[in-house]
Parts: sequence; structure tokens; C-alpha cells
Amino acid sequence: MVDFTNIKRAFADKSNTDLNRAYFLFKTISSPRISSLLTNLVKFALIIRFPITKIIKITIYKHFCGGETIIDSKKTIDKLWKSSIGTILDYSAEGKEKEIDFNNVLNETIQVIRASRENNKIPFVVFKFTGLIKFNILEKLNNNTILNDNDQVEYNAFKEKLNVICKETVLAKTPLLIDAEESWIQDSIDRIILDLMKKYNHDKILIYNTLQFYRHDRIKYLNTILKQSKEENFKLGLKLVRGAYHQQEIERAKQKNYLPPVHLKKEDTDKDFNESIKICLDNIDNISICAGTHNEESSKILIKLMKERGLKNNDKRIYSSQLLGMSDNISYNLSNENFNVSKYVPYGPVKDVIPYLIRRAEENTSISGQMGRELINIIDEKKRRNS
Ligand SMILES: Cc1cc2nc3c(=O)[nH]c(=O)nc-3n(C[C@H](O)[C@H](O)[C@H](O)COP(=O)(O)OP(=O)(O)OC[C@H]3O[C@@H](n4cnc5c(N)ncnc54)[C@H](O)[C@@H]3O)c2cc1C
Repeated sequence: MVDFTNIKRAFADKSNTDLNRAYFLFKTISSPRISSLLTNLVKFALIIRFPITKIIKITIYKHFCGGETIIDSKKTIDKLWKSSIGTILDYSAEGKEKEIDFNNVLNETIQVIRASRENNKIPFVVFKFTGLIKFNILEKLNNNTILNDNDQVEYNAFKEKLNVICKETVLAKTPLLIDAEESWIQDSIDRIILDLMKKYNHDKILIYNTLQFYRHDRIKYLNTILKQSKEENFKLGLKLVRGAYHQQEIERAKQKNYLPPVHLKKEDTDKDFNESIKICLDNIDNISICAGTHNEESSKILIKLMKERGLKNNDKRIYSSQLLGMSDNISYNLSNENFNVSKYVPYGPVKDVIPYLIRRAEENTSISGQMGRELINIIDEKKRRNS
């Protein structure tokens, strides 16, 4: 069994400066009060255009991001690869809704696809639909609302972008992960991706959708598309996650007075996530997976079920993935045992990545257990080095 407590290995490529920065960071954001104060200060500083990007760049950005550009991120990519960990470059400029921004995301995605060509260091490419099209158009599609003329023009432009991305993906032969988003746009995303899977996932699995198992309908959906893939002769690419928008899902359901589409108990999410691993491994000839999780228990279950089924640690169809700067004890110890591991490495201009960094701060404050574990590991490694 992989030893996730081996923190020496987890932090082997971190200098003392890196470790001290991580300690300072996680210690600061572990306090909900300080974390909330700092995130509000950052938001305010951005509004009044106070120059805070420099301080962010040498602290939280340096810990969680690869760099401002793909070339800037090369150092991180190479460092991870020394431990046989692949990089999933994630252009993290979020919440932008102008055509010029969508073109920018398209351009970055194409650059990443091209950089991944015959490059083992970049095993996947990732993007999200809202990087290429307005949220409200996806919402209309989700509700089967008829698009007005303007929307239709924008939707056509989106489909053309998607087409370009898929063509580049076929040339590079690097699988494309598509992130999952809020439930009230996800059906439209699922429908489009299922069509892409039917078109592109035959000999090689090139298109991956993401399933969020905090949603109580996802096991059923998984079984439905699995059946469909067998009947219609295509393969499934799936990124399995718990889901990042739990609070928003609950709040919206309350506001609009409908039953939340997500589990209310963490253990129900855990149960479905672990069940999804089992279903996928039982059907591994039809599915490739990327388990995006920082949960040790789920990572252990993945290993155990692979072993029980006689699957090799480095079976090409199975990947585990974590975010840069988080759960290195899982990533580095898995890759040391020859499992396929990759890290999401966000990159982009500092000011554009700030919403992503604020989410990391909030997540590490609010998730009970997770923060404690990161901080404890860092403290233990500091002690070990000083003893
Ligand atoms: C590589 C990678 C890719 C990702 N891609 C996406 C993506 O495309 N879309 C997306 O939405 N998220 C994505 N995520 C984030 C992911 O969904 C989780 O939010 C995050 O990884 C924390 O979950 P965990 O599995 O690491 O485990 P844990 O830390 O054990 O679980 C925390 C998660 O449990 C769930 N949860 C918490 N409290 C409750 C509760 N009371 N009731 C029910 N469920 C609860 C929430 O989903 C929460 O995020 C990604 C994460 C990684 C590592």
C-alpha cells in the first residue's frame, strides 16, 4: 500500500524557502477570520486599483501557480516531471465574458495543446466552457430556452472554437479534460460533450467530461452514459471529482425554492465518489479516468480496487490528479509507486488568477480536515529538517 505519510518524499523538491512560504501561507489562511479579512482586502485593493499584484506574486501565487505564461511555467513543469508527475496547464483567467477574452482562452488552449504534442510532461489539456461562451447562453441552452439572434451568433462562434480545439486535440493526440461547472448549466455542457465523445473517443480516448459526485444524480448518469457508450460503440473519458460549488448549489436551491441537486451530507458524496471509481474500474475497457481528488481514503480505494482487478499501477487508462501546491503527500507518493499522476498547474497574469487564488484560500479555510492535514504535513517536514 502506498504510504501517504511519507512527507520527506512529498516535499523532497521543496527548498527551505518554499517550505517556509507554504507554512506562512497555510497558517495565515487557516484562520477563517484572517482569511476572510485578507480576501476582502484583496478585493477592495483591486477595486481601488491599489498595486497588490507584486506581493501576491511572491506569496500565494508562487505557491499555487506555474507562472504568467506557458513558457514561464516551464520550471514548474520540469520540476514536477523529475518526480514523474505530469502537468495539466490550466489557464486560470476566470469570470470574463467578452469576445476578446474568449478568443484569448481559445488561443491559450491551442498553445497548450501544441506544447503537449509528443510531450509526456503534459498528459492532458484542460479548459472550461465558460472560458469560451457566456454563462447565460449555457443557462438558456440548459433550460431549452430558444436563443435570440445575438445569442445564436455567439453560440455559433463558441461551436467553431470548440471545433478548432478538437481538431488540434486530434493532431496532438493529447486527451482534453473539460471541467464541470454549476448544475444549472451542466446539462447543456454534458450534452455537448457526449456528442464530442461519440465523435472522437474510439481507438483513443480524447475527450473527457467531468462528473461531480456531490450531485445525487451522478451515479445514475454515469450508468446511463456507460450503457449508451456500449450500445453506440464509443468510449468514455471521465474526470471524477466531488465538486467545487457545494455552497452555491445549496444557496441557489434555497433562493429559488427547489430541492438541492447535491448531497447534504459529506459521507454521501464520499460514498458516491468511491462507488464511481468502482463502476469505472469494473468497466475499464470502456472508460479512462482521471481521479481529481485530495482525499486520501478515495486515493487508497482507487489503489486497492486496481490491485484487486490485477491492473498495473501505470495502466494508461487511470490517472490521479491534484492541484499544484496541495496534497503533495498523495501526488509524490503515488508517482513514486509508478502510478500515473498529474497536477493542475494554473497559470496566467497575476490579477486574472486572483479569483482562483481566493477560492484556494476559502477552500483551505472552510473544508474541515483538509487544511489541518496540509499544515500538519508542512510543520512535520519543517521539524524533520531541523532535527
Ligand atoms: C485535479 C482536480 C480537478 C478538479 N476539477 C473540478 C471540476 O472540473 N469541477 C469541479 O466542480 N470541481 C473540480 N475539482 C474540485 C473538486 O471537485 C473538489 O472540490 C476538491 O477536490 C475537494 O474534494 P476532494 O475530493 O479533494 O476531497 P475532500 O476534501 O474530502 O472533499 C471536499 C468536498 O466534499 C464535498 N462536500 C463538502 N461538504 C459536504 C457536505 N456537507 N455534503 C455533501 N458534500 C460535501 C464538496 O464537494 C467538497 O469540495 C477538481 C479538483 C482536482 C484536484
